Amino acid sequence: MKERIATPTKTKEIIEANGFYFKKNFGQNFLIDSNILEKIVSCAGIGAQDCVLEVGPGIGSLTQVLAENARRVVAVEIDSNLIPILQQMLSGYEDTVRILNQDILKTDIDAIIREENGGDAIKVVANLPYYITTPIIMDLLEQQRNVDSITVMVQKEVAERMQAAPGEKEYGALSVAVQYFCDASLDMIVPPSCFMPRPKVDSAVITLRVRKEKKFAVENEAFFFQVVKCAFSQRRKTLYNTLRNEKELHILAQSAADAIKEMGLDEKVRGEKLSVAQFAELSNLLWRKKAEGGFTAE
Ligand code: SAM
Repeated sequence: MKERIATPTKTKEIIEANGFYFKKNFGQNFLIDSNILEKIVSCAGIGAQDCVLEVGPGIGSLTQVLAENARRVVAVEIDSNLIPILQQMLSGYEDTVRILNQDILKTDIDAIIREENGGDAIKVVANLPYYITTPIIMDLLEQQRNVDSITVMVQKEVAERMQAAPGEKEYGALSVAVQYFCDASLDMIVPPSCFMPRPKVDSAVITLRVRKEKKFAVENEAFFFQVVKCAFSQRRKTLYNTLRNEKELHILAQSAADAIKEMGLDEKVRGEKLSVAQFAELSNLLWRKKAEGGFTAE
């Protein structure tokens, strides 16, 4: 085992030796507690056959532990100033680690899965840059990338959002997407003192296990997600009013009213009260009504 990068002394030494400055806009809070890193890798269940996608390796603290456990690690880092540091810190792990200097939101993840794992499911493990947590998770889930599980450090409040139940303040489109595709488990809460620099909020590690079998029968998933996003777009309005006013859904006001009634819901119900199963039923009803001619012009 090589010397750990994730200690306060070592991290400081690397930063200073390379004249590196943390960039707030890239969400750079590096982990400096190697016990936490070991736990993340263990919660992710990384084994010798696994291919792992890491988002934002930073100076390689988590990458190092992943490399010692996995068959292959692809680490995507946006900050070009970190690339020479990563290459230096991960020397000795070249056979296992591939570093890509790219924006994860513009990365062809399907190509990585094909090239690095013959198209088989990979695992995603990351201490995420908090400013783009939701787009990263939504892309992995909605685009149905071939991912087995996602183990990520996120803001504690975001982990709560992912697990929130209907009617709770945190319940939203992210909760529905996560619960539609995955079984989630909260692995641990991580205090600001485990990072350099320290974030203002508590963090949490959460594992999302993508179900192999679908739990909810949805006729058109793209439409389902449009309905969900619409339902949460204006939380103060009733479900009927948000559906009726959303032009992109192309549904008639009457279809919205009928669907809500057929489901036995109160006409004044708000979207945030619907469970994932109820969203599935609602989107199926609306989809069928559209197919029967109940749609507005494109
Ligand atoms: N993995 C390291 C650790 O645990 O110490 C660093 C984690 S830090 C919270 C987030 C990392 O994501 C930073 O290195 C940052 O530069 C990188 N990052 C930010 N935006 C990114 C993006 N769009 N694509 C890829 N990496 C990004």
